[in-house]
Amino acid sequence: MAYDPENIFAKILRGELPCNKVYEDEYSLAFHDINPQAPVHVLVIPKGDYVSMDDFTAKAPAELITGFFQAVGKVARQLELDEPGYRILANIGTHGHQEVPHLHIHIFGGRPLGPMLAG
Ligand code: AMP
Repeated sequence: MAYDPENIFAKILRGELPCNKVYEDEYSLAFHDINPQAPVHVLVIPKGDYVSMDDFTAKAPAELITGFFQAVGKVARQLELDEPGYRILANIGTHGHQEVPHLHIHIFGGRPLGPMLAG
């Protein structure tokens, strides 16, 4: 799938739409999900035109991949989720139920999260 520069997260990255920012560095931006599924629900997105985790791991430079994953860990620690723990998730494509076609890692926390998959 080609990257759509008009997707909502691309607009947030360009500053055309607001977000409730949690963290930003040269590789990534993290913000609260608009429809939280847990007491803490934050999205971390890379600064680059990547549709999904598949696209990102196939095409992104190693420095960006490293910086992005380091940012996910930093955000979780900043939110004090490292203890007692949290969950990360990336939806990919149709079967993954991905709605926004810009790679995002969900960080869920703030309560026991139960089994891995529902439904
Ligand atoms: P996914 O199904 O993995 O593509 O998840 C997309 C997520 O983006 C959902 O959890 C939405 O609630 C969230 N979302 C959509 N629009 C916004 C927005 N403008 N700001 C923050 N989160 C959003």
